[in-house]
Amino acid sequence: MSKLNGSVVLVTGGSRGIGADICRKLATENACLVINYARSEEKAEEVLAECKQLGACNKSFTIGFDVASEEQVNESIARIGEQVGAVDVLINNAGIADDTLLLKVTQDRWDKILNVNSRGAMFTSKAVLKPMMKKRKGAIVNISSIVGEMGNAGQTVYSASKAALIGFSKSLALEVASRNIRVNVVTPGFIETEMTEILNEGLKDQFLSKIPLGRFGKAQEVASLVSFLACDDSSYITGQVFGVNGGMRM
Ligand code: NAP
Repeated sequence: MSKLNGSVVLVTGGSRGIGADICRKLATENACLVINYARSEEKAEEVLAECKQLGACNKSFTIGFDVASEEQVNESIARIGEQVGAVDVLINNAGIADDTLLLKVTQDRWDKILNVNSRGAMFTSKAVLKPMMKKRKGAIVNISSIVGEMGNAGQTVYSASKAALIGFSKSLALEVASRNIRVNVVTPGFIETEMTEILNEGLKDQFLSKIPLGRFGKAQEVASLVSFLACDDSSYITGQVFGVNGGMRM
């Protein structure tokens, strides 16, 4: 039996990488998918077409907006409401990395990363909350990162943006638990996507040597956990942080 059965699921940054695989996985559970992108409209449309083949409801659609703009987020959530109904499940996956040593970080870069990775998830969460509270049901899954838990040289700002998501999620979980809304966090380790493809081989080898399972992760391996947290199989789980990291952090 399908587990999402027409529930409206918004996946931010669903056009590529982990987000695209989350969409594919949720499609197999018959979600009504709303696939967000910032720039990659064509890729998002390709993911949508695939998802419809996999079982996503026919009304599923793509929507372009910048999660870092509260105005765009609010307008888009309103449009989703008109088109397919209120968001039942929100997956905050959109994120950017722009790694450099703190001494070289400019305020512009700092703001850009925090705006997308932290404030973006806060804007979308706030925007979907009222209808969830009325329905007394909802799930939010925030994609943080292993470096938000353990830090990494060269990623001070990125790590801070991802650690912020953990504190945010736990606090929000406490605020909305009485309305049966669950908020959980997934912290991927090193997952093979365009975000990690650009790292030099030396750095990749360094990461690899720290991974007990001896390989990098695949986006589908994150998507499986997200799917579990999005549906009622995880109905008694909230405020938790789950690593998908091949044992890199125990
Ligand atoms: P990716 O391949 O670079 O994809 C990033 C996605 O985010 C794209 O769909 C992109 O949309 C979207 N996005 C970026 N800025 C956006 C904005 N301002 N508004 C809306 N969407 C935006 O990254 P990934 O590796 O799949 O990572 C997905 C998430 O997992 C991120 O939050 C990342 O920090 C986290 N993570 C990844 C790893 C890893 O090893 N890959 C590890 C830990 C955590 P466009 O295509 O339109 O630009």
